[in-house]
Amino acid sequence: MFKINENYLKLPGSYLFSTIAKKVAAYQEANPDKRIIRLGIGDVTLPIAPAIVEAIHKAADEMGHAETFHGYAPDLGYAFLRETIAEKDYKAWGCPIDADEIFVSDGAKSDSGNIQEIFSQDSRIALCDPVYPVYLDSNVMAGRTGEYDAATGRWSNVIYMPCTAENHFVPELPKERPDLIYLCVPNNPTGTALTRDQLKAWVDYANQEGCVILYDAAYEAYISEEDVPHSIFEIPGARTCAIEFRSFSKKAGFTGVRLGFTVVPKDLKCGDVMLHSLWARRHGTKFNGAPYIEQRAGMAVYSEEGNRQVMEQVAYYKRNARTIYDGLKEAGYTVFGGINSPYVWLKTGDMTSWDFFDYLLENASVVGTPGSGFGPSGEGYFRLTGFGTYENTVEAVERIKRLK
Ligand SMILES: *Cc1c(COP(=O)(O)O)cnc(C)c1O
Repeated sequence: MFKINENYLKLPGSYLFSTIAKKVAAYQEANPDKRIIRLGIGDVTLPIAPAIVEAIHKAADEMGHAETFHGYAPDLGYAFLRETIAEKDYKAWGCPIDADEIFVSDGAKSDSGNIQEIFSQDSRIALCDPVYPVYLDSNVMAGRTGEYDAATGRWSNVIYMPCTAENHFVPELPKERPDLIYLCVPNNPTGTALTRDQLKAWVDYANQEGCVILYDAAYEAYISEEDVPHSIFEIPGARTCAIEFRSFSKKAGFTGVRLGFTVVPKDLKCGDVMLHSLWARRHGTKFNGAPYIEQRAGMAVYSEEGNRQVMEQVAYYKRNARTIYDGLKEAGYTVFGGINSPYVWLKTGDMTSWDFFDYLLENASVVGTPGSGFGPSGEGYFRLTGFGTYENTVEAVERIKRLK
């Protein structure tokens, strides 16, 4: 009889979004007259910007003519896109990154989930708690995380870095030495970012201890504060210790288009071996390149017109987040995030995250996401997102204020 990868059975079911959907459906059925406002969504809602749609149409037409048809894309991405990324996302910000250090992909979820494959089986991982669940789950599947303790919600072989109001959501350097450190900045779900000095402390630590930082910058476009770097490669020394993931999803609404990229500097080595070579080999073997049409769409994000349009969308979501942040603060809540992020993170007071979910749904018909779904240290917190419409956001905030 064949055998399965038993590690998959260790994954505690992720009931977060299905439980939310069930609770919301039950509430709507019992209260058919109530208009529910969903601020739990982690997906964008605005349509693709016109300059990008135009580029998609043009690329689609090219695919229909023998002279301009494109088959398999180069594994690592078309030079036109890699060179543009190197120029506009890195050189323009003072980051010493070359086009051939950029690997174009179908998104940051695949890359941040797959990157663990190029590291040793016995690598120890360190994670922010709470955080985007992909980093942990991909390591569980690979068999690196030890055993799960349902009582504490923790794995025996994971170094947790709690990020709570007490430490201003800034992860502290771990007491035990990890091999791989996952950082998600600005953070999903807490909406908080790291300053240049805070990030520098991590780069220095990683270089000194021989760790690799796996840096997920999916929300880079939302950064407003001067002192918050847009890339880890703005920090001197990052070329020898960091890999960075970027996505077009939250910046340009590509959640359904699918495009992202990963930066692996050639200076990042284990002995003589460049991680760049391993990731190139992995990409070439298991990935057949992001589609031509999508890479053309990505190019349009960097055009003058396209950039202006997507940054207007980002500003729209940020205004929503700010509206939630200010409104809830006025209503007496302790709130975080919302400045360098589309996410607002709030304290649920004397309620658990799930009790607060029920309270908000039943009394305000507003849906959010319980913080405990993102890790044990998310208990007692709640996430609201700026990805709804402005009108719904204002209305939701008014309803929450009336509860007080
Ligand atoms: C949404 C999200 C992603 C997913 O990015 P894709 O490019 O759509 O795969 C990655 N990382 C974080 C932290 C996210 O919140």
